[in-house]
Amino acid sequence: MNRKPIFAANWKMNKGASETEDFIKSFLSKLQGQDFPCEIVIAPPFVSLPKLADLLHTATAVQNAHAIQIAAQNCSQFDSGAYTGEISVLMLREFFVHYVILGHSERRAIYGETDAIINAKIKKAREANLKPIFCIGETLAEREAGNLETVLRTQITGGLEGVSEKDLGETVIAYEPVWAIGTGVTASSEQAQEAHAFVRSVIADLYGADAAAKIRIQYGGSVKPGNAAELMACPDIDGALIGGAALEPQSFLEIIRNGS
Ligand code: PEP
Repeated sequence: MNRKPIFAANWKMNKGASETEDFIKSFLSKLQGQDFPCEIVIAPPFVSLPKLADLLHTATAVQNAHAIQIAAQNCSQFDSGAYTGEISVLMLREFFVHYVILGHSERRAIYGETDAIINAKIKKAREANLKPIFCIGETLAEREAGNLETVLRTQITGGLEGVSEKDLGETVIAYEPVWAIGTGVTASSEQAQEAHAFVRSVIADLYGADAAAKIRIQYGGSVKPGNAAELMACPDIDGALIGGAALEPQSFLEIIRNGS
């Protein structure tokens, strides 16, 4: 099955509009003339989306800008109304947002997002034709207690409850072991491949072999230029979701180059 790898930068709460501009100008100049067989996605903070959209999708955009897709880091599960501090999917559409990261472990742990909330957000994103990057992953304690598969199965089943096969086809899964996020500790390629193969098998149970063969599953957790090639060589790993190492244009580009 030929799955196009997807490399997504999750900037988290870093880079306002002016730093976004600096990054994009540098990144595009480095990207100039290179063509990687993958999708490149950048997820800035909400307030930097207009600047990113402007840089990538206006007349001032330079060559290669079209190759980069924009993601949001979150969205509301509601349409509009009295939800202070929230951003709706239709607001995101105005800024050429194509992807939305949902279920990130920081949203789960710090903001109490449950599988049910994540499920509602995935469905809301699909109503607006946004593509979810649906994050799942176990904590170290869960892995050490032998609960890896139970945790992943529960997160997948809960997050995708009632999601159609068609909408699954527009969804990317990001397997991100919580113990590897922002810690500098990366899952070994064996650990990552094993988890990815398991995730794919759960998708096969829920949606059938064809859907499982088609879905892209990114790895996330301390991906760097030095480990990207080995991780991306695994048969069930289809790209990466990158935090810290995607804050610098050169390092993000090297991950893409080494991993493609
Ligand atoms: C992430 O935030 O999704 C992530 C994988 O971060 P890092 O690459 O810094 O571990």
